[in-house]
Amino acid sequence: MKEDYYDILGVSKSASAAEIKKGYRKKAIAYHPDKNPGDAEAEKKFKAAAEAYEVLSDEQKRAKYDSYGHAAFDGSQGFGGGGMNMDDIFSQFGDIFGSAFGGGFGGFGGSGHRRTKGTNLRVKVNLTLEEMVLGVEKKIKVKRKKQAPGVSYANCKTCQGSGQTMRITNTILGRMQSATTCTSCNGAGQTLRHRPSGADSYGMISEEETVSIKIPAGVEDGMQLKVSGKGNEAPGQGISGDMIVQISVKDHPTIKREGNNLHFDLYISLSEAVLGTYKEIETVGGSVRIKLESGIQSGKILRLKGKGIPSLNHYGTGDMLVHVNVWTPEQLTKEQKQFFEQQATHDNFKPSPKSSHKSFFDKVKDMFS
Ligand SMILES: [Zn+2]
Repeated sequence: MKEDYYDILGVSKSASAAEIKKGYRKKAIAYHPDKNPGDAEAEKKFKAAAEAYEVLSDEQKRAKYDSYGHAAFDGSQGFGGGGMNMDDIFSQFGDIFGSAFGGGFGGFGGSGHRRTKGTNLRVKVNLTLEEMVLGVEKKIKVKRKKQAPGVSYANCKTCQGSGQTMRITNTILGRMQSATTCTSCNGAGQTLRHRPSGADSYGMISEEETVSIKIPAGVEDGMQLKVSGKGNEAPGQGISGDMIVQISVKDHPTIKREGNNLHFDLYISLSEAVLGTYKEIETVGGSVRIKLESGIQSGKILRLKGKGIPSLNHYGTGDMLVHVNVWTPEQLTKEQKQFFEQQATHDNFKPSPKSSHKSFFDKVKDMFS
């Protein structure tokens, strides 16, 4: 028994178009193959969600489905019982994932006749924090499928180059005509005429190539960038697939990232806190000299404006937040111990926080406001 489309998307039968889109987006992201590599169950759910959305997002199809259930589409849909294939999902609904997967999988524009598309290449690049913040150009060696030199193709005789064949089916709604992918050419519209030696049955060869990838400033660990047309070439007049670049960022030994802000733990000595001092703070792209006022408290957060990470959308740059930690000496010389004991008996160094000395929790609250 096939699951109900509304149930698949987790929406009610009276859901609005926006709710349906939202429901699909949620499922698509949860079961996205990039988040669940090798998980066949997730892939099944991902496809099921796409199929449900394909129907429910279309007013006419939705009305049919509401009246006749799954029977409305038996045999008349391109994806019938076999489900949609992944490339179709990405090209049709790619915009849905857009923001969630950093650029994501765009469709290839326009409607009408679709040409075959080469498969995507997936590569992983490791970035340092500096590279992530400042942006970088990386050269990556990949093996791409290309059309072999000297290869030639001819229009497919079965579909006359359209890549599709028409099929008439009898359904409860009457005779329906639907287009299906031509099985002779797998939708390419072309077949191999001359196959050079060394080429596979599609006239393709694998070739190593160095691809230059521009990584913009402000990417994040786990993000994916798409380099259009840098994936595998397609045979015939097909268009090349894309290169999907997975970003991985190495941890920095002392600087932590949170959103577009950077955090740095600064340790100062008790005497530096009491007397005040200057410190060189290492930031991405150079160091900054900052002044610490005498009497500075442990837990104080100094904000270095604009020393964080530029946002990908160019909405300004984050800050560097320097967390001041006053280091309490763990070992004292005899003289030092005497000095502190003397102060203690005179009741000096007594904490007297004013309202201007915010508590740690207030500061954390401010940071996120
Ligand atoms: Zn054909």
